[in-house]
Amino acid sequence: MEIEVLGSYGGESLECRMTCLLVGGRIALDAGSLTQALPIARQVEVHSILLTHSHMDHTSSLPFFIENVYGLSSGGIDLYASAATIYAIRKYLFNNATWPDFTRLPNHLLPAIRFHELEAEVPLEIDGVRFTPIPVDHLVPTLGFLIEGDGAAVLWSSDTGPTERLWEVANRTPNLRAVCLDTSFDNALQQVADVSLHLTPRTLERELEKLRVEVPVLLHHLKPPCVERIHQEVGALGLPGVEFLEQGRRYRFDRA
Ligand SMILES: [Zn+2]
Ligand SMILES: [Zn+2]
Repeated sequence: MEIEVLGSYGGESLECRMTCLLVGGRIALDAGSLTQALPIARQVEVHSILLTHSHMDHTSSLPFFIENVYGLSSGGIDLYASAATIYAIRKYLFNNATWPDFTRLPNHLLPAIRFHELEAEVPLEIDGVRFTPIPVDHLVPTLGFLIEGDGAAVLWSSDTGPTERLWEVANRTPNLRAVCLDTSFDNALQQVADVSLHLTPRTLERELEKLRVEVPVLLHHLKPPCVERIHQEVGALGLPGVEFLEQGRRYRFDRA
């Protein structure tokens, strides 16, 4: 199973693109940087998008992506998200004021995008890859995903504060190859992290006590101004198996 990291940050700057993964080249997980990371010829290949939640650092390239592939991709784009996220995207993004309503363009029978509702812990299979949504703890309803394919599993959590169910799933998944986890702010911004439901190196250390299996933990969603301090603080913790998710890298996960 191949996962390409198009954007691995929780904010945008010259070097930092916002949260976006490409699974098997054709399925996007979040849409923070689809249009910044891929040439249009590769954007056209993407036929399905799963969203963790409605925040802009996970959705901001959607309007421009739809515009780029409009008329080029065959059969429209399938967009999978929770009912709460679909409601927010319809109301605040594709509302004809912020951007045209592409669920009714070119017409309601053949729309450019189609929404599909995800239910917590009900798996969805696309192109032979299984995505199981796992609710996490963030300011708005947010899903992590257990991604399974080619005999390997990766647990993806984007934005979350301290959480429980994610770790239960990690501990009971035998073929788990990696856990990807939010570390948004450095320790000096603990209060900001607590009220916005994100992790810092301090709360990351506590969260990792809940993980009882030895797998690589790949940190991501760093806020651009905090990158250097987070690297220093995580380095000082000396946690085994903890690394940073590398933007631009293609990861390969297979059965052991
Ligand atoms: Zn975010
Ligand atoms: Zn968020």
